Amino acid sequence: MTRVDERCYADAYLRELPARVLEVSATDGAPLVVLDTTAFYPGGGGQPSDRGVILRTADGRRWTVRGARRIGGEIVHELEAPEDGELPTTGEAVTVELDWARRYALMRTHTALHALCGVVWRDYGALVTGGNMEPGSGRMDFEFERMSGDLVGEIEQTVNDELHRRRDVKVDVLPRAEAFAIPDLIRTKVNLLPEGIEQIRTIEIVGLDLQADGGTHVANTAEVGGIRVTGYESKGRINKRIRLALVDPDA
Ligand SMILES: [Zn+2]
Repeated sequence: MTRVDERCYADAYLRELPARVLEVSATDGAPLVVLDTTAFYPGGGGQPSDRGVILRTADGRRWTVRGARRIGGEIVHELEAPEDGELPTTGEAVTVELDWARRYALMRTHTALHALCGVVWRDYGALVTGGNMEPGSGRMDFEFERMSGDLVGEIEQTVNDELHRRRDVKVDVLPRAEAFAIPDLIRTKVNLLPEGIEQIRTIEIVGLDLQADGGTHVANTAEVGGIRVTGYESKGRINKRIRLALVDPDA
């Protein structure tokens, strides 16, 4: 099991917290730091990892965290190599701080993509085959043979209507058997949940969409604001891609 208390899954709004350094490795490439707790999301499910800083409590010395990822099951912070070569040391107290503007834009974008998924599934029965996002924009791929420019306009309108309904977004963790008993929960065409995962995390836009998911989302669709469909493409006869952007990415 991981030694790290991973806080982003329970509280997406946590942007800063005290921590202690467990391990530092500074071989070739970027210095890597493991902390006993973190607010950083390590990336996954189309959502890129967070960026931010680590601040040493004793003297305020700061290190830029340019990304985070899982290594051997643990969330590891990847630092920009400091010019003077000084790194955090094992055991010392620090504060982790997210680049919140970036993370919050990702939370809004991720939630917008779920709303898109929910609408396309409910109204057209199309399954998701993939997706990806940046802060403020993203794309989803669907098995959606009859998609057209007209339909895309309709979808944009419906997604915005749904977002404006101020729907709550709920996070839950269910035992695997219970999760698999929910019809349509695993909405992606290919069910990629590995064997051996006993707890399934779900994200529900209440009344619209329910998915197994590991990312960070806003608590209410009102926080997303509105979206614009910025493009759609055929990736073959059946596979179609829809691109969207937040109308006000800095809100
Ligand atoms: Zn998601």
